[in-house]
Amino acid sequence: MKYVLVTGGVVSGLGKGVTASSIGLILKACGLRVTAIKIDPYLNTDAGTMSPFEHGEVYVLDDGGEVDLDLGNYERFLDIKLTRDNNITTGKIYQSVIEKERRGDYLGKTVQVVPHVTDEIQQWIERVALIPVDGQEGPADVCVIELGGTIGDIESMPFIEALGQLSCRVGSGNFCLIHVSLVPVLNVVGEQKTKPTQHSVRGLRGLGLKPVILACRSTTALDENVKLKLSQFCHVPGENIITLYDVPNIWHIPLLLRDQKAHKAILKVLNLSSIQWKEPELEQWTVRTELADKFDEPVRVAMVGKYTGLSDSYLSVLKALFHASVTLHRKLVVDWVPASDLEDATRNENLEGHITAWNLLKSADAVLVPGGFGDRGVEGKILAAKYARENKVPYLGICLGMQTAVIEYARSVLGIQDANSTEFDPNTRNPFVIFMPEGSKTHMGGTMRLGSRRTFFHVKDCKSMKLYGNANFVDERHRHRYEVNPDMVARLENAGLVFTGKDETGQRMEIVELPDHPFFVGVQFHPEFNSRPAKPSPPFLGLIAAAIGHLEDLLHPWPVKSRTRLVGCFIPRKKPHLSGCLNKHPNGSWSGKYSEHMNGSPNGISGEQVNGSITGLYSNGNGIHH
Ligand code: GLN
Repeated sequence: MKYVLVTGGVVSGLGKGVTASSIGLILKACGLRVTAIKIDPYLNTDAGTMSPFEHGEVYVLDDGGEVDLDLGNYERFLDIKLTRDNNITTGKIYQSVIEKERRGDYLGKTVQVVPHVTDEIQQWIERVALIPVDGQEGPADVCVIELGGTIGDIESMPFIEALGQLSCRVGSGNFCLIHVSLVPVLNVVGEQKTKPTQHSVRGLRGLGLKPVILACRSTTALDENVKLKLSQFCHVPGENIITLYDVPNIWHIPLLLRDQKAHKAILKVLNLSSIQWKEPELEQWTVRTELADKFDEPVRVAMVGKYTGLSDSYLSVLKALFHASVTLHRKLVVDWVPASDLEDATRNENLEGHITAWNLLKSADAVLVPGGFGDRGVEGKILAAKYARENKVPYLGICLGMQTAVIEYARSVLGIQDANSTEFDPNTRNPFVIFMPEGSKTHMGGTMRLGSRRTFFHVKDCKSMKLYGNANFVDERHRHRYEVNPDMVARLENAGLVFTGKDETGQRMEIVELPDHPFFVGVQFHPEFNSRPAKPSPPFLGLIAAAIGHLEDLLHPWPVKSRTRLVGCFIPRKKPHLSGCLNKHPNGSWSGKYSEHMNGSPNGISGEQVNGSITGLYSNGNGIHH
């Protein structure tokens, strides 16, 4: 196993995760099999109990792991499926060490950070690196390890020490340390300053780690004399200094790395230059990246959420919207609508905010209500679902967004004014959404219905089934405690709502649709976690297609007069750009490939949201959070 360690210096928020994923991607494009580990030095066992407002979204894996959102970058860029153990935290390491101590595994020794914690970290890395994540047998060739935080953080010290020991043990030809740093440009003179990077590299070396490649974030490409200076002061060969300047779309990053021959430098360090490897195969990627920058016809999506102050709170949803929009050749414009601003109560407290929220909602081509917890903004989400339903605006409700759509239907169509979820009103007389029997009310961490679960389509010819390529069932990821009350389903269905997807018992509602609406779909699962640049998520694709008036092309993918029915492929009837192919696997699940037409995702950099287009900027080369 070869290891590529990616550390970060100077400031946080440099896009280290995107850079590390891009490194993985170019190595994969060279023909190597790649896996990834993200180290988060915080004390939480996992990201499950962390507020999306503070830390960005909680990313959910197939195995139910609730992990750092950077794992989403790896899954999307490398098209792999990681496990919960691919995210290491201080909490997990200490938990394991303490368990061993209680079992008596340390045979009476004093348990210490060195060697017990550092050994635990190394064993964890070496064990997890061997888990195949790309659907093939046997371990990958290279494991990219991203160390979260910035060099010098107190929390990361045991990890730095452990990684130093690991590099020593596996030997220099098996370990490549890439340090992502910042070269700020002083605006007055426009000069690229190397001092912060020098200091950061010095700090790293002082801790026993020697970087062999520097990836320097800056607003523009580094001048040759700046590279020379860095090379001299940081003891890194000039050809190993890569500059990652600001680009309009994060999909350019692997291309920047390739153009500067970063793959050659890495392969040389890892003693792989002699083996048979090819130039990175990135043709499709390049086409997509260039296409992504070109589209200017907008599709406006109103995101009605609770955490609209930080776009990272809904990162995977944004990326899934972006994949779908670019596949359909549109520029994604997201209008953030704070759900509570839509509520009547806000009219008195904040009239301007209330008017703005409603104007944004009304000018959108589609409405998306993402997942969420707690009752803040729930009434606003219900109003958004009502607006979309009554005005025939395409609607996608995810998890809580599905539950609120069901509550809205019960209230407006069944006339049950106090219909509610027991999450928001535990004593409601009309519980249309209830706590799932298997849940825990006392422990919050890891006790939800989590991870990949199967949904069976129950209604042939419904929109969602067609979107999933007429599959019989689909596996999507879940994260919820509440569900639609099965006792209320018959009443809802008699009134016109159709539950088109259910779990294997037929008792748990997974997909809801309104057949006489252009596109009104609610899903209990989170399809955003399975969206990939080259495989946009079907519900998102449906939403965007409906928003731009092309849903029919997607749902009826063969020419009416054609004799040969192209199972699972869709061919445009009107617009030539709607070409692509949905693949139905023998097991009945779905995957898709949309030739050169798909596209990427917004940035992996933390930032406040601003209404407007999602271009996927990679542009805080001055260390500024946008
Ligand atoms: N709060 C709801 C539940 O627990 C929805 C969760 C979500 O949207 N992820 O069921």
